Order: sequence, then C-alpha cells, then structure tokens
Amino acid sequence: MKVKEEVFSPFYMDDEFLKRERQKAKELKKTKWWQRKLSQGRCYYCGRKFPPSVLTMDHIVPISRGGRSVKSNLVPACQNCNFSKKHQLGFEFELKKINE
Ligand SMILES: [Zn+2]
Repeated sequence: MKVKEEVFSPFYMDDEFLKRERQKAKELKKTKWWQRKLSQGRCYYCGRKFPPSVLTMDHIVPISRGGRSVKSNLVPACQNCNFSKKHQLGFEFELKKINE
C-alpha cells in the first residue's frame, strides 16, 4: 500500500530520522498548503472551530513512533486535543474517538 509506505519509515529509531522529520515539519509550516489548512480553522480531532493562531501542527502518527512529516500525516490540532493525544498513540486515540 502506497500511503503506508509514505507515512511510515523503517528507520524511525534513528536520531537522524527524528531530526530530519522535525525539520521537514518546520519547513511545511511555511507552505501555502499548511497556511490553507490553518485558515480553515478546524481541529482534525474534535472538529471544532478555532482561530488559526491557537492550532498547532500535529503528526497523526508521531515521529517518535515512526511517523513521517508528509502531508497525509500532518493535521491541525487544538491545544486540548494535542495535550490529550500526547499520552496516547494516534491510532488508539482515533479508535477511542470512534467508540465514544
Ligand atoms: Zn481539538
């Protein structure tokens, strides 16, 4: 599956990988693509509207779990969701949301 290959890297335990993906995320924050996402002002997780200034860039699959800084893995999240997600892996968080 192509999407899976793009989102996950087999080298995720590598320090260089973490550094590179963090840098890539930083670069993507400057792009029109991200500005457009922010201007929609919607949190990916709770779906509520927020001013773009309070939304943060979030990796659905965290870099520390092998997630990459690609568009399909980056979403705007409000501070509340970002905080509660920190304690859980993205997919578990998603499942919890569906079950609720
Ligand atoms: Zn939210």
